[in-house]
Amino acid sequence: MAGGLYVHLPFCASVCPYCDYPVCAVGDTNLSAFVDDVLREAELHASEEPGFDTLYLGGGTPSLIPDDSLMRLLAGLRSTLDVLPSARTFLEVNPEDVTAERLRLWREADVHTVVLGIQSFDDAVLERLGRRHRAVQSYAAVENASSAGFDCVSIDLVYGDELYDIPSWSGALREACALRPHHVSCYELTAAEGGPGSREHAGLFRTTHETLEGAGLRAYSVCSFAAGPEHRSRHNEKYWTLQPHLGLGPSAHSFREPVRRWNVASPRDWSAAVRSGRPATADSETLTPRQLATEALMLGLRTRAGVDPVAIRERFGVDLVAPNRALLERLAGEGLLEGSLVGWAPTRAGLAVADALAARFSVGEDA
Ligand code: SF4
Repeated sequence: MAGGLYVHLPFCASVCPYCDYPVCAVGDTNLSAFVDDVLREAELHASEEPGFDTLYLGGGTPSLIPDDSLMRLLAGLRSTLDVLPSARTFLEVNPEDVTAERLRLWREADVHTVVLGIQSFDDAVLERLGRRHRAVQSYAAVENASSAGFDCVSIDLVYGDELYDIPSWSGALREACALRPHHVSCYELTAAEGGPGSREHAGLFRTTHETLEGAGLRAYSVCSFAAGPEHRSRHNEKYWTLQPHLGLGPSAHSFREPVRRWNVASPRDWSAAVRSGRPATADSETLTPRQLATEALMLGLRTRAGVDPVAIRERFGVDLVAPNRALLERLAGEGLLEGSLVGWAPTRAGLAVADALAARFSVGEDA
């Protein structure tokens, strides 16, 4: 099975107050030298990794990287690691960095999916989020990306009851749909900021799913919607199905069953390691079969594809059916799960409480 390749570019023009990603302000960082270090790290893994059929440049704000350095990064990764000719390349960009000329360059560099960090089309919401761009730049970015010929134009939005009531969120979603993106991700702010468990969570979640599905964007996870199966994020699907992935850059995580490892978070420490020819690994853990089965269950219940207990038994030797027969009937009766003993898919109501749903299952103990 081909793997996913992720590069974490941790720099942003400034750090938004709600952000919980491992990022830092770019300041006077030499981004060209950072790209050199990513390519050094790729060299360290050149012989040990399988072919990759996704390549995702995320962050942070990858669109801060000057075009010549970004082209060098893409070309270097593709020649150093076994990036397959069929690989899909994803690039996260912020609206304020997007121009028609840059879009053309990115497209020519074989970027298939451009992921636009729109967050909101409401300037007052953008102000509250501490974002640097304004709605007018978002409209232009989506329209220019749509005419630039990408296979997929994806937009990221955030919501929560600190930001919207149900009518205003519904209006915001309809505005997004009018731009006809191929893919939308809607991230709910954390519980403290109005996320899952908050007063309006259920209503906002239902509004999100009803409005986007009504516009032809089908939910395939808790927060991901695609106009067609070909527009789903092949890269994110690798995380959800525990496929191998290699992460490069500070804080990046890698997984090759049964081992997960992650890089040091500090860009300075990460650079020092890769410049001296050492892996920048901070730590690693070896997951037991039951831990792997638990992850597969939790991740599967966050997707419309759901959980395949037969595949889990074959892959990890863990039987989820026997200890959960009665629970499965109860969950189906509560309208949270549909399917049979050979496949469990959460309903929309089940997706809204996916993590709580997973916590009700019994996976047993490791011997
Ligand atoms: S631009 Fe995105 S990654 Fe950067 S600080 Fe803001 S939310 Fe975080």
